[in-house]
Amino acid sequence: MFIYTNISIMSKPLIAGNWKMHLSEPQSRGLAEQVEAQAAAYADTVETAVFPSSIALSSVNSLVESTATGVQNIYFADEGAFTGEIAAAQVSDVADYAIVGHSERRYVFGETDETVARKTAACIRNHITPIVCVGETLHERQENETVQVLNDQISTGLTMITSEDVAGSVIAYEPVWAIGTGENAKPEDVASAARTIDRAIGEMFGRKTADQVRVLYGGSVSSETAGSYLDLEEISGLLVGGASLKEHEFKAIIERAANGGAETGKS
Ligand code: PEP
Repeated sequence: MFIYTNISIMSKPLIAGNWKMHLSEPQSRGLAEQVEAQAAAYADTVETAVFPSSIALSSVNSLVESTATGVQNIYFADEGAFTGEIAAAQVSDVADYAIVGHSERRYVFGETDETVARKTAACIRNHITPIVCVGETLHERQENETVQVLNDQISTGLTMITSEDVAGSVIAYEPVWAIGTGENAKPEDVASAARTIDRAIGEMFGRKTADQVRVLYGGSVSSETAGSYLDLEEISGLLVGGASLKEHEFKAIIERAANGGAETGKS
């Protein structure tokens, strides 16, 4: 299980690796061991988290100490006849985090902002920190609808939790057109989206709450591009997909975060 170090977790950038539907259980353990060595080496300055496929979540969790673990998706009910789903209650002892509303869930599996709200509430109820993903499609960006989309996703997605819960939650800004495409969002656009998210949370829950929420960026991040996002004061870390499956890439991203990225200023 993940062990917190004595430096305030809020001041550390969070580097989260979403392994999606990749790797067998033994392969997941192998990659987790490599990540753990790097996470332990930089534990004072970076928080590292991995999101294995649920078949490997428990075994990965049992072999890491300096790496947090999370689940890629949960269902919003705590138990019941929901074949194939996983309840937050079932993973609360092995998952520090849960990704909620990932764009692949929204656009491949039809999840709505209302579903996201219910899943976020299920995380909080079960003491799992939600990483709520928001972001516009390419069409929405081209139509200048990014601000509206982010406002809607935030206002509905966080509607079922309290300001105290929101303060401890994480938001990942993941423009849909940048996920798994190799397209890089411009850092100034990421900063602007993060400010929109911050403003929306501030209006809903108050400035004090907004100041505590960590906002990550995700979308085709590599070791080459990580620094340009980590240097943004609006960004508190990264949600990394494809590059997190490559041991050397992910280790290099953790190292980049340790070497001066993401002075978030949030506490
Ligand atoms: C993700 O899955 O959240 C993600 C950001 O993927 P990628 O880095 O591959 O774009």
